[in-house]
Amino acid sequence: MQDFLLTDEDRAFRTEVRAFLQRELAPRAADIEERRDWDAVKHVVRALAQAGYLRLMFADLYRGSLKKPGLTHATILSEEASAINYAFETTIATALSCAYPLHRHASEALREAYLEPILDGRAVGAICVTEPGTGSDSADMQTRVEYDARTDEWVVNGFKRYISNASVADVYIAYGITPRDGTSKPGITAVAVPKDAGGISFPRNYTFMGRHGCIVGEVKFDNCRVPVDHVLGGAGEGSAIMRGMFNFERAILGGSGLGVARSAFEIARAHAQSRKTFGQFLGCKQLIWDKIAQMSWRIDAAELITYRATKMYDAGVDGRALMKEAAMAKLVATETANFCVNETVQILGGDGLTKEYGRAEQLYRDARALTIVGGTSEMAKYLIASRDLPDLKINL
Ligand SMILES: Cc1cc2nc3c(=O)[nH]c(=O)nc-3n(C[C@H](O)[C@H](O)[C@H](O)COP(=O)(O)OP(=O)(O)OC[C@H]3O[C@@H](n4cnc5c(N)ncnc54)[C@H](O)[C@@H]3O)c2cc1C
Repeated sequence: MQDFLLTDEDRAFRTEVRAFLQRELAPRAADIEERRDWDAVKHVVRALAQAGYLRLMFADLYRGSLKKPGLTHATILSEEASAINYAFETTIATALSCAYPLHRHASEALREAYLEPILDGRAVGAICVTEPGTGSDSADMQTRVEYDARTDEWVVNGFKRYISNASVADVYIAYGITPRDGTSKPGITAVAVPKDAGGISFPRNYTFMGRHGCIVGEVKFDNCRVPVDHVLGGAGEGSAIMRGMFNFERAILGGSGLGVARSAFEIARAHAQSRKTFGQFLGCKQLIWDKIAQMSWRIDAAELITYRATKMYDAGVDGRALMKEAAMAKLVATETANFCVNETVQILGGDGLTKEYGRAEQLYRDARALTIVGGTSEMAKYLIASRDLPDLKINL
């Protein structure tokens, strides 16, 4: 790839973080995939944190070797980690998604209590939006976040599902509705809930077709009480907080898609140059050239669109102004990943379907989640079109 939008400093960072991940993550990747080894995941999260990499997103908190941290470097980290093991990368992507609203909207005391441990790798965070009755239409959530004037506390009641890091997190950013009761601003409210708050339980974890090793499950909040300062940004401000969080999560997911796509492409390229059929290398056949060319241009396009979004964010563009570009990054890179894993399996034939002949089948299973998590491809298209057709109301 040409990595046209990246600077020499960005490239130096890629070399540095790639070497780090080769040292820390690559030797543990098989255990994460085959034994779903959470201890291995935690070990690498801690190593990344100790090296300062989980602070990349937060320039004011960064204590690393480079002077210019930001979303571009966090996305490079995501891309490089996903190229080795996408399941592992989902744990740090979730940690960062949890750290982001704490950094932007929590009080100093709360940042000290919950953000610092995440960035130091001592704690893991989770984001709780999705519910049994609401996924894409998150505004319709049933969870309640209500103020109890008697005890001067906020009370959370609700059931969340498909929550990454569910039972293993130490702090949860829970989103719920604050009803119109005259005491607080109504609307979606985001609240930080520590695991030991009381009233929090984990009915079950799910078994997924791919992404083995990351933990995704249900979280139940049953009269869960937190002090008043645990509300982020004020009651009713949750929608705006969620929008900011999704922007940068989607750019990071662009990096995840790129990493998976790149890995698949390398496997396909190697196979096309070594496997012989009809007396020639597979790569000599025109139909295979077409597949290789399509993977190649799609990866380049995804890279340009993804790093355009991260460069915009690093230049100070955020909120509504970044929504379209972040959605495009997520859409194009994750669809590209799925295109590439599919074509790679096809080029490998039987070898693409078996665990005995390399990682193609794992990549195929892992990639499938990419167009669903962090907002589906369909929702990304609505976000993009809504910017292009500003005078029309979308019929969701
Ligand atoms: C592995 C994994 C990890 C996850 N981690 C988290 C997490 O940490 N925190 C969290 O809160 N959530 C998490 N999620 C949930 C994820 O964000 C949702 O699955 C996603 O937003 C889609 O919601 P849904 O599954 O309820 O699908 P639905 O919203 O029911 O949608 C089903 C299908 O219908 C399509 N659709 C819906 N509405 C429309 C429409 N108006 N027009 C056209 N098509 C439509 C969707 O695009 C999708 O293809 C995770 C999910 C997975 C699978």
